[in-house]
Amino acid sequence: MLQLGKSQKAFDDAKRYLPGGVNSPVRSYRSVGSTPPFISSASGSRIYDIDNNEYIDFVLSWGPMILGHANPEVIASLQEAIPRGTSFGAPTLLETELAKKIQAFMPNMEMLRMVSSGTEATMSALRVARGYTGRDSIVKFIGNYHGHSDSLLVKAGSGLATFGVPDSPGVPKGVAENTITIPYNDIEAVKSLFAEKGDEIAAIIVEPVAGNMGCVPPVPGFLETLREVTKEHDAVLIFDEVMCGFRASSGGAQKLYKIKPDLTCLGKIVGGGMPMAVFGGSAKIMSQVAPSGPIYQAGTLSGNPIAVTAGLATLSILQRDPTIFKSVEDTTERLCEGYRKLAAEHGVPVQVQRVGSMFTIFFTDKPVLNFDDACACNNDHFQTFFHYNLERGIYYAPSSYESNFMSFAHKAADIDTTLEIAGEAFREIAK
Ligand code: PLP
Repeated sequence: MLQLGKSQKAFDDAKRYLPGGVNSPVRSYRSVGSTPPFISSASGSRIYDIDNNEYIDFVLSWGPMILGHANPEVIASLQEAIPRGTSFGAPTLLETELAKKIQAFMPNMEMLRMVSSGTEATMSALRVARGYTGRDSIVKFIGNYHGHSDSLLVKAGSGLATFGVPDSPGVPKGVAENTITIPYNDIEAVKSLFAEKGDEIAAIIVEPVAGNMGCVPPVPGFLETLREVTKEHDAVLIFDEVMCGFRASSGGAQKLYKIKPDLTCLGKIVGGGMPMAVFGGSAKIMSQVAPSGPIYQAGTLSGNPIAVTAGLATLSILQRDPTIFKSVEDTTERLCEGYRKLAAEHGVPVQVQRVGSMFTIFFTDKPVLNFDDACACNNDHFQTFFHYNLERGIYYAPSSYESNFMSFAHKAADIDTTLEIAGEAFREIAK
């Protein structure tokens, strides 16, 4: 049904020049065993490929496009900014304006620094935490993804608290050894780790709403425990809100769950679809960053005027009309409720997990609380669902370990179409 002839040719060509034909692994569709559509343009809730197929997009560039693709106001602001020059490597008024805007949404970010990717934000936040505490060990949760820097690309071993082993060739063993991994949502594991080693730990880094093993909310008490143990042991609590910032709520997970982290990382939406991310937090910690303090961090394109312009335009729209968040969340809930009903009608066991405008359909009959639960889901059902939908123009993340996203540009008709096809896909699975 779906014609991907031109994409197939483009993919073959790309593979000669780019490893796996892509610039980020998940785009290769290896986990779903097919050819990725090569995208030519996008508008609102839709993306279009080079074979002229049209899709309703629930990937949204992996989260950033909360206003929908090519929002006219964001595009106009870029068109106005570009003729003034694309990079100066010098301070601009725009950067302070954006910092103020971010702080209005997230008052815990008293000072912040702009970088070019989420990876850079989390990597730099860790350096700051280590420099500030004078300690080396960090704690991360199994199934949380914080980008691809060495300290954070670490696999969990077995057992409650394991010293990490590298998740990729090229990550030095010595670096990975400083990363302790424990299961997400496991309050007892956190408490016993800190009882044993709390005074050696520089920081906990956490996705306060996990999105990189599919959408997994924190259980009650989990984030509170992280706050308590880090406070008690003078460790730094880092909320990686690269994905869930502006999605869990207007003020991210920290506003939704009323927890104040020491440092926060933002990305995706904060750059309005351009390469931009941010880390920041208490002025006491952030004033340790160079040049006001000794902890070095820098970037040629940091605070790039074009990226900052896209971020500013996006956040300005969200600030001007705060009902956008509620509207996007309501649309997401309508879709999720629809999936639940349709799956039940066809007798397909699913857990549709949602926080704000992030959601995942897990093919399982029990709630997914951690990475083991996510791994136990029925991958055959996921594959059938994914391919059935893609064939019919519904574009979901090509892996069962990912969140999907909603935008303000998705309207009732998009949801109706999506649910109609989801119902057919559940029927197919039930056959
Ligand atoms: N942190 C989280 C929670 C993410 O979801 C991601 C990317 O998806 C990152 C960090 C890394 O961001 P980037 O891909 O911009 O380097």
